[in-house]
Amino acid sequence: MKILVTGGAGYIGSHTCVELLNDNYDVVVLDNLSNSSEESLVRVKNITGKSLEFCKADLLSKKQIAAVFSENKIDAVIHFAGLKAVGESVSIPLRYFQNNITGTLNLLAVMNDFNVKNIVFSSSATVYGDPASLPIKEDFPLSVTNPYGRTKLMIEEIMKDLYHSDKNWNIALLRYFNPVGAHKTGEIGEDPSGIPNNLVPYISKVAVGCLPRLSVFGNDYDTPDGTGVRDFIHVVDLALGHIKTLPKLFSNPGLVIYNLGTGFGYSVLEMIKEFEEVSRRKIPYKIFGRRPGDVASCWADPSKAKKELGWEAKKTLTDMCRDTWNWQKKNPDGYQ
Ligand code: NAD
Ligand code: UDP
Repeated sequence: MKILVTGGAGYIGSHTCVELLNDNYDVVVLDNLSNSSEESLVRVKNITGKSLEFCKADLLSKKQIAAVFSENKIDAVIHFAGLKAVGESVSIPLRYFQNNITGTLNLLAVMNDFNVKNIVFSSSATVYGDPASLPIKEDFPLSVTNPYGRTKLMIEEIMKDLYHSDKNWNIALLRYFNPVGAHKTGEIGEDPSGIPNNLVPYISKVAVGCLPRLSVFGNDYDTPDGTGVRDFIHVVDLALGHIKTLPKLFSNPGLVIYNLGTGFGYSVLEMIKEFEEVSRRKIPYKIFGRRPGDVASCWADPSKAKKELGWEAKKTLTDMCRDTWNWQKKNPDGYQ
């Protein structure tokens, strides 16, 4: 079985490539390296002792995508490629719509031309907006508050319409909660360009001494300690969720939707404390006002994925912090 992984050089993509190779899939990566480095794929090969094919190509070029399909007999696509920074999406929405929506439309059109109709799409818990209750189930109402989230919701809708038009498609929409952590070898991990927007990469840059202090966005939420609560999920658990989704996809399920989360929420302060313990470093922080658009709490009901895919997250908060720290210590400048 040959799997095309778009965005495979990125954070979640590279971890998924490792698990695909470990599970004996053949892997072709399509990535334009706009937010990643080919070095991640060299390390994927080192970790697994297996090879994969890399095609430097852009989803904005149908011609480049078609060339990949002409040269490879693809059985299914895992579609990670996209821009993902919420704040940036507010400043440059057209770039986000162009890259994420047009890129996906091009990919789906080429897949249709080559009669490859199995796809797993990286959606996000952001499509639930501010949930009315917790934990979040897949049938909760959907709403979004920023252009990044809107691209995820629009792509979900596009894929639903596509499935309704042609029942030969098999589509899995995977809604990720908060991916963190790194491979246990410390060879691959999250390598944000510039100052990180997300909590855990920010904390680890403070711990390693690259940034002086963390800003905690709000301590007046209706949560046990007043700071935001999220469902942090280890990236390797998340990658394994994709591996469990593939056999489901090949069983012709039509369009399916799963939450990939742990079902537990931890607060910003709990995350800082755990990171301090595993790194044995102090994380200086200061409380600031709430970040616009943030919800107080968000965690998944992952029981549908457990029942239908036989998947559940296994790794603990300590694993997440320890593996992030291991990656950060070994690679203070990321893949540079
Ligand atoms: P990432 O930026 O590390 O990886 C995305 C990859 O896509 C990068 O390697 C980038 O170079 C590539 N890419 C972007 N546009 C492209 C294009 N037009 N053509 C070819 N390649 C292109 O991000 P990630 O954290 O690994 O996220 C992967 C997917 O999961 C994204 O779609 C993201 O929106 C989604 N997601 C991420 C999170 C998260 O917190 N990391 C949460 C929910 C959903
Ligand atoms: N957060 C914070 N400081 C930061 C980054 C994030 O206090 O520098 C908080 C944020 O307000 C939220 C939580 O950490 O409550 C998770 O934020 P992140 O950006 O990692 O993920 P999100 O759930 O917003 O996608």
